[in-house]
Amino acid sequence: MKDISKMGYATKIIHAGQDPCPVTGALATPIYQTSTFVFENVDQGAARFSGEQSGYIYTRLGNPTQTALEEKMALLEGGEAALAFSSGMAAISAVILALVEKGDHIVADETLYGCTFAFLKEMITKFGVEVTFVDASKIEEVEKAIRDNTKVIYFESPANPTMKLVDMKAVSELAKEAGIVTVMDNTFMSPYFQRPIEYGIDVVVHSATKYISGHGDVIAGVIVGRKEFIDEIRMTTLKDIGGVISPFNAWLLLRGLKTLAVRMEKHNENALRIAEFLEEHPKIERVFYPGLPSHPQHHLAKKQMKGFGGMMSFEIKGGYEAGKKLMDSVKLCHLAVSLGDVDTLIQHPASMTHFVVPREERLKAGITDGLVRLSVGIEDVNDILGDLEQALEKI
Ligand SMILES: *Cc1c(COP(=O)(O)O)cnc(C)c1O
Repeated sequence: MKDISKMGYATKIIHAGQDPCPVTGALATPIYQTSTFVFENVDQGAARFSGEQSGYIYTRLGNPTQTALEEKMALLEGGEAALAFSSGMAAISAVILALVEKGDHIVADETLYGCTFAFLKEMITKFGVEVTFVDASKIEEVEKAIRDNTKVIYFESPANPTMKLVDMKAVSELAKEAGIVTVMDNTFMSPYFQRPIEYGIDVVVHSATKYISGHGDVIAGVIVGRKEFIDEIRMTTLKDIGGVISPFNAWLLLRGLKTLAVRMEKHNENALRIAEFLEEHPKIERVFYPGLPSHPQHHLAKKQMKGFGGMMSFEIKGGYEAGKKLMDSVKLCHLAVSLGDVDTLIQHPASMTHFVVPREERLKAGITDGLVRLSVGIEDVNDILGDLEQALEKI
């Protein structure tokens, strides 16, 4: 058998977790579209349930198509094991619910995906868990917020949608000293450009809906971490809440992942060109893209990321009205939430993805009324530039 552990990252992306079917020779991993698995006899069924014997039982607890995806994601993130879910939010909520109980405390960054913010602020607090939101880009704010009962530090980097970075190494060192679990959302970079586990982060979460799929045709989530922790979640919050991925969606992610390397390279190349164009444009106030030397944490970006990705946000002179005009005038870019697709997507965080965040907290997190978020696709970059240019002319 080939040993892909010594091969290049692009090779791992294609081969990890996937071998031709030993029975039929099928190259592509089959879609095991089955809800249950037949036992040979009662003893075997009992051994599977008790965990004495590995093997499949019921698709809510695992399925071979899902296993291929999980093995690939674990290898790509450099973690021991992975677990797939029906959505990014199913993954994020399952991780948090597994880590805390009544009386515990969470420290979270104040700039988060809107629904993650809502889950931490409104949902988990219903169960007697307290959450303190801080600016995690300032390590002293994280340190100050830690209490004796703090169990989790949660953040994104780059954060959605302001592209603020958090120093992964600094936070993980602080957390380790205090015996706290770090959970990081790596959706914006994908493991191709950023591997938090290498920096000491305990659990990586993904909305696999985005770059892992890459094609805008599936909702899914993945977590990566230590095997013991992943096994525990599989048999607790995933099993009992049930946010399981379907075999077909796991297969779509396997298919999408095959091209992760070429997609991410192109997203990165296009985004850098567009960020430079926007920064020079007289109608643009500010561009937030970690690949620009003007990004306040450009140094940190170069240190902890292998590329800058395809996500950026920017403020147009004239605030919300000007931004609205731009988004209503684009023809090639789609006005849509979500991100990480091969298609370029543009949206307005304040009224769309971050509508659930109260205005005051939104502004504190840097999500102003005029901020526009762009997920740069892999179209011909001149066509994206031309579309933005003609839309900016209309303002
Ligand atoms: C989209 C997104 C989520 C939520 O994922 P779903 O797959 O939509 O449930 C979480 N975090 C980030 C950064 C996202 O972009």
